Amino acid sequence: MVYDLIIIGGGPAGSAAAVYASRKRLNTLFITSEWGGQSVVSEQIYNWIGSPSISGAELAENFKKHVLANAGVGQTLEVKEGEKVNTITKNNDNFSVKTESGEEFLTKTILIATGSGRRKLEAINADKLEHKGLTYCATCDGPLFSGMDVVVVGGGNAAFESAAQLSAYCKSVTILHRSNVFRADEITVEKVLKKENIKAIKNVEILEIKGEKFVEGIVFKDKITNTETELKVSGIFVEIGQIPNTNFIKDIVPLDEGGRIKINPLTQKTETSGIWAAGDCTNILYHQNNIAAGDAVKAIEDIYLYIHTK
Ligand SMILES: Cc1cc2nc3c(=O)[nH]c(=O)nc-3n(C[C@H](O)[C@H](O)[C@H](O)COP(=O)(O)OP(=O)(O)OC[C@H]3O[C@@H](n4cnc5c(N)ncnc54)[C@H](O)[C@@H]3O)c2cc1C
Repeated sequence: MVYDLIIIGGGPAGSAAAVYASRKRLNTLFITSEWGGQSVVSEQIYNWIGSPSISGAELAENFKKHVLANAGVGQTLEVKEGEKVNTITKNNDNFSVKTESGEEFLTKTILIATGSGRRKLEAINADKLEHKGLTYCATCDGPLFSGMDVVVVGGGNAAFESAAQLSAYCKSVTILHRSNVFRADEITVEKVLKKENIKAIKNVEILEIKGEKFVEGIVFKDKITNTETELKVSGIFVEIGQIPNTNFIKDIVPLDEGGRIKINPLTQKTETSGIWAAGDCTNILYHQNNIAAGDAVKAIEDIYLYIHTK
C-alpha cells in the first residue's frame, strides 16, 4: 500500500498537520518518537493561542487527544507513536520511509516536522540547574525573573533579542559571549547595548553555575587575561544555537549551513519534489509553537493541491 502522505514528528507542527490531513481525507501515516515537542518541558506556556496558560505536559496530552480523535476506524489517518524514522529513500515515483524498529512504509509525499533541540551549555552544574534558574527560552520563562539580575549566554541575534526582552522587567542583564565578535546584526547590537540595564562581556568561557536548589551565580574566565569572575545572578538564559533534527534526511533534502531544511516560505516545499517541511527543522527565522503549527497547516494545503492535481 502507498500512503498519500507520511508526517514525521509529533510537536505542534506535526500534530497540526495530522489533524488537517485527516480532515482533508488524505490517506496519511503519522509517525512520532514522542508527543508534544520541545516545550513539553515548560512549566507553563502563556502564548499558545486559545489557552491563557497551559503546562507543557498538558499541551502534549492535548496534541495527542486531538490527533487521535481524527484517527482510527473510518478515518484516513493512522498513528504510529514511539517510533523514530531513520531513513528516507526515493523509490520510483514514491518514497520509502524506514523506522528504527525496521518497519518500512511507502508514500507519495512527506511532511518533515522533526523540530530541533537546543545546543546545551557545557559547564559544571549546568545540567543540574536546568529549569531551576537556567533556561533555554526567554520568551517562555523571562517574566518569572522580574526585578532580578540575569545573564544571557550567547552572541547571536537570539541572545540579543532575549536580552532586549528581559531588560523590560529584569533589574540587570549581562550578555556573556565566548568570542571577540558578536554574531548578531550590528544594528541590533548597537540598539540593545544602548539600554541602561544591559551590558556585554566578550571573550568569556563559562566554567560553572553556582547554586544548590536554584541558580545563585555564574563563574566565567576571561580568555585573554585568564582571570575568573563570579557574578551573582538568579537567572541564566542560554542562547547558543539550535541543532535541527535533520541528520536522517541530509542525503535526500538540501539543508542550509546550519543543518536546517531549506523551504519555500510560501508553500513549505523543500527543494526535493514531493517533500515538505515545517517548524523548527526549517530555515525560517522565528521558532514558536504557533508558527510551527501554522506553517504545517500551510504545507498540508499545498500537499492537498499536489495530490489532487498531479
Ligand atoms: C524549553 C522551551 C520552551 C519553549 N516555550 C515556548 C513557549 O512558551 N511558547 C512558544 O511558542 N514556543 C516555545 N518554545 C519553542 C517551541 O517549543 C518550538 O518552536 C516548537 O516546539 C517547534 O515545533 P516543531 O513541531 O517544529 O518541533 P518540535 O517541538 O521540536 O517537535 C518535533 C517532534 O518530532 C519528533 N521527532 C524528532 N525526530 C524524529 C524522528 N526521526 N522520527 C520521528 N519523530 C521524530 C519529536 O519527538 C517531537 O515530537 C520553547 C522551546 C523550548 C526549548
